[in-house]
Amino acid sequence: MSPHEAQRPRLRLLKPLRASLMQGHPWLFDRALGLPAAPPAPGAVAVVEDHDGAIAQVFVDPDSPIRARVLTLDVDERLDDAWAHDRAQAAARRRSRDPALVGCDGLRALHGEADGCPGLVVDVYAGVAVAMFDGRAAAAFWTPRLPAVLRGLVAGGVDLDRTWVKGDRRGAPPYAIGPAPPEVVEIREDDARFGVDVISGQKTGFFLDQRDNRRCVAAHAAGAEVLNLFCYNGGFSLKAGLGGAARVTSVDSAPRAIESLADNLRRTGLPPEAHELVCADAFEFLAQARRQGRTWDLVIADPPSFAPSERTKGTALRGYARLVEACLDVVDAEGRFALASCSSHVTEQDLLGVLASAAIRPSAPGRGAALRVRYAGGAATDHPILPAFPEGRYLKFLLCDL
Ligand code: SAH
Repeated sequence: MSPHEAQRPRLRLLKPLRASLMQGHPWLFDRALGLPAAPPAPGAVAVVEDHDGAIAQVFVDPDSPIRARVLTLDVDERLDDAWAHDRAQAAARRRSRDPALVGCDGLRALHGEADGCPGLVVDVYAGVAVAMFDGRAAAAFWTPRLPAVLRGLVAGGVDLDRTWVKGDRRGAPPYAIGPAPPEVVEIREDDARFGVDVISGQKTGFFLDQRDNRRCVAAHAAGAEVLNLFCYNGGFSLKAGLGGAARVTSVDSAPRAIESLADNLRRTGLPPEAHELVCADAFEFLAQARRQGRTWDLVIADPPSFAPSERTKGTALRGYARLVEACLDVVDAEGRFALASCSSHVTEQDLLGVLASAAIRPSAPGRGAALRVRYAGGAATDHPILPAFPEGRYLKFLLCDL
């Protein structure tokens, strides 16, 4: 054992997970990892071992079901600023050669586990980096290393001049590194312009992960009457408009979302008369549209996560089923329907199951049977997935023909 390794607590695997860790799975759940009587502080580095010896260095989160996140399989590696800098620089360099990011100045520069920086996300919006920690332990581990991470991103080619840290989603206060960012930062994505509220917007301010699915919608929108449900600040709506949609109806229950969509139409130079903005509950809107006999050529539904945990998955699937049925009621006979799910507990297979059962609902016999998936997408290319970590594939997007 090296002197460096000896300083760290050693935690014993309770399950045979050496192979899974070696393949790159970055999490150890509470059932799989014992803690000593005096557990390490959240974010403390420890060495995980089994009967064959040390396997990985992790940071520990004693209070979370995700008890440890793997930092490196090299048990002698020093997890200092140079290490953090190199991880970030490598992530940035991978993005600098990604053709899907050409024409975009909003990107996910660092995608947590998949970029070797578990529990840390850095989105960059036209020079403003927005960092977010996934929990208290990630905040404790990454906060002292964040300046090195940011320097690494710049060294790898990311253009950034200030940073806003959103805290840890469980109450840690946000703070600025360098000058405070403006509340709204304008980004461009192809021919669209979005004002991103980096301070109080959802997630880091924008749904960067839908970029490639937005492009898919743009490609299918020419001449179409489009309904975009759960539209937030109008990602799909703008791209549908730019793709030549005849008219776009956008629905969200949050007044601020509708306001920012109106603002984004102006920024992009799209004609407001071609966009109907509705602040309403999506299910109520669909029920009313059905009563009125309204239909659309292309209906998009990208709801918030219905399944915050594995335990709620059954309820979530019933929620998706109800949503799909209500959407299919308002899709034209030869129209298209796109469904997205951002819950990692609901798999693509689960969603296909929901679409398949829609075929046998009593209210529209045979209709769902004609559904065919034309495009199955996921999160955009700056949100990579580790092959050994299916939990990382949280976003699914299915575009279907009726
Ligand atoms: N499709 C968006 C992201 C959707 S986020 C994009 O591509 O950027 C989910 C959105 O659903 C939020 O804006 C939230 O305000 C809205 N929402 C949540 N519950 C809703 C409901 N019952 N009816 C309508 N909108 C709802």
